[in-house]
Amino acid sequence: MVIAGSIAGDDREMMIPYGRHEITDADRAAILAVLDSDFITQGPAIERFEEELAQYCGSKHALAVSSATAGLHLAVLAAGADHAKSVWTSPNTFVASANSALYTGARIDFVDINPHTLNLDVEQLRRKLNQGTRPDILIPVHFGGHSADMRAIASIAEQEGMFVIEDAAHAIGGRYLGRAIGNCQFSDVCVFSLHPVKIITSGEGGVITTNNTELYDSMKRLRSHGVVRSPELLHDNTQGSWYYEQQTLGYNYRITDIQAALGASQLGRVDEYVLRRSLLADRYDSLLEGLPLQRPHRSADVSSSWHLYAIVLDQDINPGGAARRFIFDRMRSAGIGVNVHYIPVHTHPFYRDLGFHDGDFPCAEAYYKGAITLPLFPRLTHGEQDFVIRTLRDALSALPRSGHS
Ligand SMILES: *Cc1c(COP(=O)(O)O)cnc(C)c1O
Repeated sequence: MVIAGSIAGDDREMMIPYGRHEITDADRAAILAVLDSDFITQGPAIERFEEELAQYCGSKHALAVSSATAGLHLAVLAAGADHAKSVWTSPNTFVASANSALYTGARIDFVDINPHTLNLDVEQLRRKLNQGTRPDILIPVHFGGHSADMRAIASIAEQEGMFVIEDAAHAIGGRYLGRAIGNCQFSDVCVFSLHPVKIITSGEGGVITTNNTELYDSMKRLRSHGVVRSPELLHDNTQGSWYYEQQTLGYNYRITDIQAALGASQLGRVDEYVLRRSLLADRYDSLLEGLPLQRPHRSADVSSSWHLYAIVLDQDINPGGAARRFIFDRMRSAGIGVNVHYIPVHTHPFYRDLGFHDGDFPCAEAYYKGAITLPLFPRLTHGEQDFVIRTLRDALSALPRSGHS
């Protein structure tokens, strides 16, 4: 399956996609074992996967759900979001980060990005707070798998009394200050995606981690209709063993045993995948040296999972985004699944209808005009990578000169 094609809805014959999952014989065996067992959903594979993931991340709890979007929705609900609350996130993200807040009726706003890290900018967060508004919930996004500045964010959140949800959809296998993303040292809740284009997959799926047992219990109840069965949690425990109670309005955000078995099998390879991605990222870094573009930021505090390798064309060769368009089209025509991450969320028609405008978050908008995501996945070969760079270099030297002086 070609991920770039399936997401773009076209170019299915692409030679090199921007991302590609891998399914091994061990994955197949894990799935078949579930299919041959007594449970294909809500069996022991889910709890096993959750335990392994919590152990990998160093969190107290892990809760597997049907997608990261579902996980973000449960997290904002558990944080108490409703129409009276407000949520801030980065504009340089997939729409799900912001949509999850809107599902609850909460108001959404954004904090512009740092042009180097491409993450929510802590200085701009401070400035926005100094203007007198404050969100109840902050959702930093670890763009491309590179952790946001969580230590600073946590200290601001503590001062302001903000709830922090890490959108770590890109970041499983990444590290911050030497510890695995998902340990929740600097947040209340962290959410991973297991969509096939991300680092590891369960088909569709997501996992929430937290160290807060109350939040965990609340999200677990919301995952399955708000229904409770454990005798110690029932309001009325004088009834028979058939008895259950719906205590709140929940959802069906469950994952299946089939998916959890695949997720657990893939989790065993997460470090191998991230290592392979980081070696390829190092190689891109050196192959791109000297070209008129910005390479992904590196920080001593962060070890990225390298979900994305996003370059940014220098503004002086890219007036109005013309060079990005030209290079993107040339690379696509050559069969390279370049992509763009992300269209600033506030510029989508739906968000414009909420009152956002061009110019609201200029750093995210400027980044977007120059951004190109190059293919990066564990099985990308050096030959394919060389072809990507050669095609990019050719496109750069073929840039029409008329657009700038
Ligand atoms: C992919 C993604 C999501 C949503 O993940 P799903 O598992 O597809 O619901 C949320 N946030 C970000 C930043 C993502 O990239």
